[in-house]
Amino acid sequence: SEQSAVAIIHLVMERFSQQKSRLILQLDDKLPLVLVSASLIQQAIFNVIDNALRYSPIDKTVTISIKTLDTNSKHPQVVIDVRDQGIGISTAQSETIFQLFYSVDSFKRNDSGTGLGLAVSKGIIAAHHGSIQSVPVEQGCLIRICLPACAEPSINDKGKAS
Ligand code: ATP
Ligand code: MG
Repeated sequence: SEQSAVAIIHLVMERFSQQKSRLILQLDDKLPLVLVSASLIQQAIFNVIDNALRYSPIDKTVTISIKTLDTNSKHPQVVIDVRDQGIGISTAQSETIFQLFYSVDSFKRNDSGTGLGLAVSKGIIAAHHGSIQSVPVEQGCLIRICLPACAEPSINDKGKAS
């Protein structure tokens, strides 16, 4: 159903209990709704924020920002950026991290998980005709989720909403 991305983010943030104080939320003034399964999208975003918190130092914040892209086009998007100040992801690994069971240097680390999180997120976002990608940044990691925005109901020349 039609959901507010902001409401979804708030519910996801609630799930991080003690780590919640590391999360900073930045919102655009006016955001369109998205047509999604709220529980699935919550899971998709949870996985990304979980990584950002896990793969960056405990004293560093994670910034979640939500904005609209291509507002005036036929296909406006709601963009959810999750940015951390951790070790980051190399360009070479920016695609592979979304594969099942992939974890960077997993044999060297005792803090990494099963390598499922981002593959699950990608599947959920794809099912909603959206996209998820690692955007190259100078420091840390930026994961960008784009979801098609709900179009404002338009009035056609017969005077009916279409
Ligand atoms: P799971 O999420 O299933 O518990 P996981 O975190 O290892 O396990 P993914 O969430 O799919 O699996 O992430 C895959 C790999 O991508 C991680 O193991 C890590 O190496 C790398 N990665 C993901 N997010 C980040 C990040 N924010 N910073 C640095 N590396 C990351
Ligand atoms: Mg993970």
